Amino acid sequence: MSISSLDDLLERCRTDPGGRTKEEIASLLRLTDPGDMAALWRAADTVRREKVGSDIHLRGLLEISNYCRRNCHYCGLRRDNRAVSRYRLTPRTILDTVEALDRQGIRTVVLQSGEDPGWSVGQLARLIESIKGRYDMAVTLSIGRRPPEEWRILRDAGMNRYLLRHETACPTLYERFHPGDTLQDRIRALKELRALGVDIGSGNLIGLPGQTPEALAADLLLARALEVDMYGVGPFIPHPETPLSNVPAGSVKDTYKMIALARLILQNVHIPITTALCTLDPAARARGWSRGGNVIMPNATPPDVRGHYEIYREKGVGHAALETTVESIRGEIHAMGRSVSTSRGGSLKRSATS
Ligand code: SF4
Repeated sequence: MSISSLDDLLERCRTDPGGRTKEEIASLLRLTDPGDMAALWRAADTVRREKVGSDIHLRGLLEISNYCRRNCHYCGLRRDNRAVSRYRLTPRTILDTVEALDRQGIRTVVLQSGEDPGWSVGQLARLIESIKGRYDMAVTLSIGRRPPEEWRILRDAGMNRYLLRHETACPTLYERFHPGDTLQDRIRALKELRALGVDIGSGNLIGLPGQTPEALAADLLLARALEVDMYGVGPFIPHPETPLSNVPAGSVKDTYKMIALARLILQNVHIPITTALCTLDPAARARGWSRGGNVIMPNATPPDVRGHYEIYREKGVGHAALETTVESIRGEIHAMGRSVSTSRGGSLKRSATS
């Protein structure tokens, strides 16, 4: 792409993101020249500054269970992996951890697990009510697909947000890697949550076998159509006990390009720098925050079980205490001239204090 047509396309992304086509987005994903990619990072950073400001939000990630009834081909928590030690945190441990997050001034807790039928909707609702009754904190759930009648119960208990990554917007790829599940069901769940007034987050994997730049562009078009409030992009990392154990990890560069394009195309959304990207690139936080990102999710899972949440093998190997991690993140943010948000950091699309 010539410099003038690249500059022109990036400017059209900035001023008219809704008009951009799959082919245009795919052409930006194909950039390889370092100067061209630097122009993409600059454009994303400009839109981040205009739409989101300089704040970076910290969300405490608490992995409440690693049981899962699903069998996704890329994930070490899949049901058929008998080599993983399964755990389920008690409500007491969860509340103690939320207390620690509160002491750190963190205003969002993300309760994450596999699709674990061991957590009933009543238990989850009581847990959410306990958190909301004690702390000024937004509660995000990231626990997979649940029966639709449960969404309302969880919302009424105080759930503010829900993360449910669609992973790939290509129906064929989706069904190949998610046995027994369809992209349509995933999209329906996101729409049901949105209809209940819950902020929704989606996202995609980078590096699935067969994924093309057009398929990745379709991920962003789907997120745009769903009007998501958050969008996360993570590189695939192989786990030895999965059917994709021999597939190479997703490209770090492609992940950054998708983060930048998510900022350009979706604009007023929260974009985390994912743990998977931080695993592959030790400089991911600073790079990601200067290429469109504005969120980080420090791992608050108790160190004694953290290593068992092995979506991929290297995940959670760090045993740093929460206080140490948060302090180092704050230092990095200030060193970049950015600020640490003190708000709950709800939807940028709606004024509700979600
Ligand atoms: S990706 Fe999620 S739903 Fe799929 S196996 Fe892993 S934890 Fe379960």
